[in-house]
Amino acid sequence: MEYRTLGKTGLKVSEIGFGGEWLERHEESESVELLKYARSKGINIVDCWMPDPKSRDIIGKAMEGCRDEWYVQGHIGSTYQNGQYVRSRDMKYVRPAFEDLLTRLHTDYIDLGMIHYIDSVDEWNRVMNSEFIEYVHELHASGVIKHIGLSTHNPVIGKLAVEAGFIEMIMFSINPAFDMRPATEDIDSMFGDYDHEMSGIDPDRVRFYQMCEENNVGLTVMKGFFGGALLDKERSPFGVAFTPVQLIHYALTRPGVSSVLCGYDTAVQIDEAVCYEEASADEKDYASVIANAPLHSYRGQCTYCGHCKPCPVDIDIAMVNKFYDLAAAQESAPQSIIEHYKALKHTASECIGCKGCESRCPFGVEVAERMVRTAQLFGI
Ligand code: SF4
Ligand code: SF4
Repeated sequence: MEYRTLGKTGLKVSEIGFGGEWLERHEESESVELLKYARSKGINIVDCWMPDPKSRDIIGKAMEGCRDEWYVQGHIGSTYQNGQYVRSRDMKYVRPAFEDLLTRLHTDYIDLGMIHYIDSVDEWNRVMNSEFIEYVHELHASGVIKHIGLSTHNPVIGKLAVEAGFIEMIMFSINPAFDMRPATEDIDSMFGDYDHEMSGIDPDRVRFYQMCEENNVGLTVMKGFFGGALLDKERSPFGVAFTPVQLIHYALTRPGVSSVLCGYDTAVQIDEAVCYEEASADEKDYASVIANAPLHSYRGQCTYCGHCKPCPVDIDIAMVNKFYDLAAAQESAPQSIIEHYKALKHTASECIGCKGCESRCPFGVEVAERMVRTAQLFGI
């Protein structure tokens, strides 16, 4: 298992993580074993947005004797009222629900204290001026939560969170279909009809990912498989099925992303996700799938897939393109990006314009011309 630093938190999280939402579907003992199996495969981050006692008890039991081997994303504002999940900012419910999380997990701290999801600007404004956010800061100041995170499905909220400065990481919904959708405050609409919206990666999302990387705000990924629809040709908005490995690779190649949290019912599904670590470049290749899809629309946009390798002068084309996009989005290139770019072994000015890469790029990116622009931008 490879581990990545989760933004400002400094935590080294496994590239493949565990989204806990399906734990309650099974007998308690089975789910406890599933979590232990995941740990044995190197997975060290688990999301617990669920407020129900069963899911929380399962995680608590799985972590008995090995609490320090797990990083927990624990949600503040996910409450359980009359046997139902309710997202709430009402402290009458929020405080006991979070205390219940600590009790059931048999712990006195949560690594990543998540502001349970905010998708609308109105709610963001309300929450940022409320007793709720004061509680989050109190928990952080007292060390009960080690880091402050947020979950959202809306890149506009993600950008506000990055700008807020105190949010160290974000759990965000990322997959090739969502990436084409304009920002919305209604997550349910993300699963609707895609026919009229296949017009390339949404600029708000591109900018959000860039801001995360520039500001060292780590990303963990939810809904990486689009609720399973992208694994099924009939339901996929692209008209083709992807494999789990391809979708994990897509998410892990977005700027700022550290871990993809998948849901699992069985040990076999864990194996299928973890085999990403051993997968060949061909097996990870989501780019050909998108490019050959009847409904693809990424033409001309670099998806950082690396399909254009090899370059005769050994330029890491995907990385150069990523730094170019990050820098070109700003009025002036941020110093951190310039330094990262200059640290590359080979830079754009070494391009000999052979265009071999362009013949291999499934998205028709005009790489040679971009290399000229990149060399001008960075002066090297
Ligand atoms: S230039 Fe094309 S092949 Fe190369 S990383 Fe970008 S999208 Fe992929
Ligand atoms: S055009 Fe430039 S970047 Fe592309 S393969 Fe040739 S030398 Fe490498």
